[in-house]
Amino acid sequence: MFTERKEVNAMGRTYKTVTVMDIDFFNTSMNAFLKHIVYPDLANGNKCFIVTANPEFVIETRDHPEFKKVVQSADYVLADGVGVVNAAMLLGQPLPERVSGIDVMYHMLDHAAKQSYSVFFLGASEDSNKKAVENAEKIFPGLKIAGRHDGYFDPADESIARMVVDSNPDIVLVALGMQRQEGWIADNIDKFDKGVFMGVGGSFDVLSGKAQRAPKIWIKLQLEWLYRLIKEPKRIKRVLRVFEFMLLHTPIVKNVIKMFGFNKTRPRGKS
Ligand code: UDP
Repeated sequence: MFTERKEVNAMGRTYKTVTVMDIDFFNTSMNAFLKHIVYPDLANGNKCFIVTANPEFVIETRDHPEFKKVVQSADYVLADGVGVVNAAMLLGQPLPERVSGIDVMYHMLDHAAKQSYSVFFLGASEDSNKKAVENAEKIFPGLKIAGRHDGYFDPADESIARMVVDSNPDIVLVALGMQRQEGWIADNIDKFDKGVFMGVGGSFDVLSGKAQRAPKIWIKLQLEWLYRLIKEPKRIKRVLRVFEFMLLHTPIVKNVIKMFGFNKTRPRGKS
């Protein structure tokens, strides 16, 4: 069964979610999400906090209760990983497709350029941030840049948030890495009157050309994580968490866990 959740922040919308390890994933396709949520929110000046979560991200929420609360406070959590889509299928609650953060970002930039919405780029190294903005302006002619800043600042430094608020952006893309970027959005979103906020991880590094996305065939074969591991071997610890997630959602392992009663879902907010 799908769980229905009533949205309180964005226009009191009701929408279907699929719960994987206490995280409510929005049951949507990329096109439906853009058409029915992002574009109307931009047009109406609504505020909205989007999280894109992959298996590693979900494991991180399990291990960090404060982070879990931040993710649960988001308006929409998207399934940014085939692992999550597969897990939902095994739970008998299929999600239509993977909705990857970087693709949502590209669609939003395209839409922003066409509709004159302004974008703030917050995060990544100074070089990568600058180049990402330059490339975005080339790829999406007419794109309005509200402002930009690298991601290496003290989170307690109020002046950064003030600068972003003062630029009055319609879209705020935050590339500070998992946890830090969602924490920044949760801590600061109340200071804004409008804006679509999304954590985009390493997407500025891809947009700037500093990092490459896996070739399509790797993505098709569900091996994007392996490609990233080969490119950045120091990610090995993170990849192990993907395996942990996969194991937890392998039917035989799941059943053993269930049999021994290790899978009791903790009540929300009491993790
Ligand atoms: N980053 C940042 N400030 C920090 C730590 C990281 O701006 O204090 C940036 C980093 O330069 C990179 C992005 O955040 O551009 C994180 O990329 P990663 O691929 O690790 O994203 P994740 O997988 O954590 O979402």
